[in-house]
Amino acid sequence: MDLKYVQTTCPYCGTGCSLNLVVKDGKVVGTAPYHRSPVNEGKLCPKGTYAHEFINSPDRLTKPLIKKDGKFVEATWDEALKLIAEKFKSYKPDECACLASARVSNEDNYAMMKFARGVLKTKHIDHCARLCHASTVAGLANIFGSGAMTNSIGDIADSKCVFIIGSNTFECHPLIGRRVMQAKAKGAKFIYADPRLTATGKQADLYLQFRSGTDVALFNGMMQEIIKNGWEAKDFIEKRCNGFDELKKEVMKDEYSLENVSSITGVPVDQIKTAAEWVAKSGATAILYSMGITQHTTGVDNVKSVGNLQMLTGNLGRPGTGVNALRGQNNVQGACDMGCLPVVYTAYQKVIDEAAQKKFADAWKFPDGIAKGENGYEVTTLMNVLTEKPGEIKCLYIMGENPMISDPDLTHVEHALKTLDFLVVQDIFLNETAEFADVVLPAACYAEKDGTQTSTERRVQMWRKAQDPPGEAKGDWEIIASIAAAMGYGAQFPWKTSEEVFNEMASLTPSYAGMTYERLNRPEALHWPCPTKEHPGTPILHSEKFGMPDGKGLMTAIPFKWPVEVPDEEYPYVLTTGRSIWQWHTGTMTRRSVDLEREEPTGWIEINTGDAQKLGIKDKELVKAKTRRGEITITARVTDNIKPGVMFIPFHYVECAANMLTINALDPIAKIPESKACAVRVEKIQEA
Ligand code: SF4
Repeated sequence: MDLKYVQTTCPYCGTGCSLNLVVKDGKVVGTAPYHRSPVNEGKLCPKGTYAHEFINSPDRLTKPLIKKDGKFVEATWDEALKLIAEKFKSYKPDECACLASARVSNEDNYAMMKFARGVLKTKHIDHCARLCHASTVAGLANIFGSGAMTNSIGDIADSKCVFIIGSNTFECHPLIGRRVMQAKAKGAKFIYADPRLTATGKQADLYLQFRSGTDVALFNGMMQEIIKNGWEAKDFIEKRCNGFDELKKEVMKDEYSLENVSSITGVPVDQIKTAAEWVAKSGATAILYSMGITQHTTGVDNVKSVGNLQMLTGNLGRPGTGVNALRGQNNVQGACDMGCLPVVYTAYQKVIDEAAQKKFADAWKFPDGIAKGENGYEVTTLMNVLTEKPGEIKCLYIMGENPMISDPDLTHVEHALKTLDFLVVQDIFLNETAEFADVVLPAACYAEKDGTQTSTERRVQMWRKAQDPPGEAKGDWEIIASIAAAMGYGAQFPWKTSEEVFNEMASLTPSYAGMTYERLNRPEALHWPCPTKEHPGTPILHSEKFGMPDGKGLMTAIPFKWPVEVPDEEYPYVLTTGRSIWQWHTGTMTRRSVDLEREEPTGWIEINTGDAQKLGIKDKELVKAKTRRGEITITARVTDNIKPGVMFIPFHYVECAANMLTINALDPIAKIPESKACAVRVEKIQEA
């Protein structure tokens, strides 16, 4: 028997825990702790523990599939590549769009970005960061000059006050939750704000059960209280920030008095006061947030409000402080860093910047040039264009994404995908989106290739190949390079190894320029920015100055706005969505993991006990949930842990898909959908 351990990085959430894959006779059969990682120190949550179970699922795609007469037929790679090359060449550049992926490696995403802009010459490339943290990227870049988590996971344990808002950290990022508990054990105060009293909230010292979508009012009210009491960090504001007067003028309005904010948010006055005092006076407050902040039509406003509070209280640039955006997927940070966004190349170099455009065109050497230096469509805008202007976009190439579960208003997404002339889906499973494809390409998963991923704390870590891909499946960048070669661009994709892809990317990416596989090949890896080969990496951003042209953070006046769709007589409750500790995103991997699927094999709707009584609904009863977009049948979970008037559905489950109900209303800047607030009606199913 041949038995070996291969150290790699967990493919699920953005925490970036290290683990060993146990390989027996060439096949991955289990996981084992890897103790030397400073991120998780050998600990794993359930998803990490069972991160091997989907790898050898019998459902894995093993051969290319071509749809003929409405049915998929197995094909050779030559047939699939020839068909794709012919079709791709038949469209004008901006008739094509590409979706990269927060699940695959940096190398795969860089290859997709280069393919989109260099081979297809389209400006339309995006990925599912649009659905989770586009507001973080846009909001923090606007006020700090860098759109990423400011601090590192380890230093949360050194906080004196941890304020978590809009994140069920203990279930969605459990190994970050561990650091919160370490801080608490050392005496830190722990504030939790969310409409649901989650597993995270149950550990808090102060729980603010606020109405979904009233974040800005809560922040402005806290800031008014801080300024009224003179608790603001005057020296920090004076030396390191612009915009204080404008911010003060807004937050001191009567609208944000404690009484008014209490009435808007539903949080008692004394709790708002206490939260403001703890944040301002702790000496080191870290704010942690996730999609409860970002997935709103005011997502960018919410993110900037988090930044405002931390600048006002001087809680930036030091250990135990910071604006800590917890990214949901393993490599969502990396996919953004790799330029898989419609406005930037790698490291947020703007496509409309002529110097950046020339830099990439010169480096890539496509004989017929690259995409114009213009911003393209975000994925959410793309879905609207497909339905509203059919024919403008004819061809879509999707790598490792599943919009038919993840995107808002699935009926709309289905209509959008059906307008396409040609759809290629590259994935490890035949997911719900792949059913609409003309060609499906079988990809290798994280355990079958080398590469890097960038965690939520900007730490760039290695994946290491533990087994061969099943059947004829191949690594994503290798597939992309094969299509490029079939289209006559083999010279631009000469790579033989992932390391060669990484080195090319790093040579064009200032924040990764000092990284090499050799430097990353150690337990602590490196945090970006790491601009030179001697640079030690940067665990804490903005220690001395912000990334803005004048080095100062920008405080911004943010007026409060209600969500687009608020409850009314017809749809009297607020629907919010989220995740379970046992499942991950669209369930393609976790639902094929026996030990995870067994724990929570289907979805549910959380209903407050009082609301359930009014509706005559009992716990575990099947009910109908309806919005203006659609309806689903789903099991009721009656609980006191959710605010009256608010209902919650996890979005992982196709058979009761939350996104059948959600609204496709977008933040005007980030174009992120308002997945955290729409109006819903729930009905008892009458017996026949
Ligand atoms: Fe994986 Fe996240 Fe769990 Fe760590 S916390 S084991 S990265 S799912």
